Amino acid sequence: MPAAKAPTGSLAGRVVVLDPGHNGQNWKIPSDHLVYAGNGITKLCNTTGTSTTGGYPEHAFTWDVALRAKALLEARGAKVILTRPSDDGIGPCFDKRAAIGNAAHADAEVAIHADGGPASGHGFHVMRPPAGNPAINPGASLQSRALAVAMHDAFHASTGIPYSTYIKGGYLTTTNTGGINLSTRPDITIECLNMRNPGDAAMATSAAWRQRIAAGIVAGIAAFLR
Ligand code: ZN
Repeated sequence: MPAAKAPTGSLAGRVVVLDPGHNGQNWKIPSDHLVYAGNGITKLCNTTGTSTTGGYPEHAFTWDVALRAKALLEARGAKVILTRPSDDGIGPCFDKRAAIGNAAHADAEVAIHADGGPASGHGFHVMRPPAGNPAINPGASLQSRALAVAMHDAFHASTGIPYSTYIKGGYLTTTNTGGINLSTRPDITIECLNMRNPGDAAMATSAAWRQRIAAGIVAGIAAFLR
């Protein structure tokens, strides 16, 4: 009897770090708690995030999507590490979130967020480092940019969510995102939708849509790791 074949698109042996943005008790972080964010800047440890106008918070969205994506990745054989253990805690700060991916030698680290953009705008965008700046995502920026392209294309194809109408092309090149700056691994952020937009908010608050969004994130990671 032939040995069982690995399922198509197996991610066995790959290490993926999912970083669900914010945390439920981050409002308790003192506003003077500044942390070195790389590239010569310090920033507030970790912000509370945004919410829909109806009050569904970003931290709940990112946590739920991360759990769904974790399950899908594990079903394909990947080892998945989350940067926080629950949705009712504080932090950790972005420097620790980057350190988790660095210590795990993550093959990919994806920070999951939802934007608080202009209410008239909708869609998703991917945040990536510039290429080859040694102060930002040292040693991995080209890989991060490849991960950004994979996510940009595969998330769109998988979910049908359009590229952001207010971030040109659906890409934002960032030099002041602590998690990306301090990471030495392929590391991006995806702003999955705009919570301040009524249509996108309806998706954020739908469990079926969050499952679809999680599958889109996994499609992006798998496209990069292929
Ligand atoms: Zn956020």
